[in-house]
Amino acid sequence: MSKKCVFLDRDGVINEDSPNYVYKPETFQLIHGVPEAIEAIKAAGYLIIVVTNQSGIAKGIYTRNDMQVCHALMQQQLGHRIDYIYYAPFHESVSNSLSRKPGSLMFERAIARFDIDPGKSWMVGDKARDIKPAQKLGINTVQVDGLSDGGADHVAKDLYTACEHILGPVWGRL
Ligand SMILES: [Mg+2]
Repeated sequence: MSKKCVFLDRDGVINEDSPNYVYKPETFQLIHGVPEAIEAIKAAGYLIIVVTNQSGIAKGIYTRNDMQVCHALMQQQLGHRIDYIYYAPFHESVSNSLSRKPGSLMFERAIARFDIDPGKSWMVGDKARDIKPAQKLGINTVQVDGLSDGGADHVAKDLYTACEHILGPVWGRL
């Protein structure tokens, strides 16, 4: 049977974003309520897959290794509950890619590899470019940070409150 999944953008959803990129462990700060939200999503039987643009790699601002160090820290802080991380180390100023959101290739790869049912799955992102590729594939969407320019199905303050839409009435009882 196909699986259900919650796809998560990283910067601005899991950790605090920065205009100067987040690639040092000391500046990698989880957003309030994220560990609890991820624990609840996992307990409800969803896969958790991160889909993140990391154009700073293409721009030479940081390396894949810098990113992997942050991802190891993120997994540690979240109890190793993230099933897989897809990242797009590209930027249109350097090299084009169908992986980089709003391209949908990272989502398509995950759907094929993990046998995911898009209709039972969700994407939570803070930018319109997170929402568009998910909608194209029939994934339910929540835009966080109070933004609604992506035309998502729902708008929420953060991942914690987005769980009201994803988990419904179950959420309050956990
Ligand atoms: Mg983001």
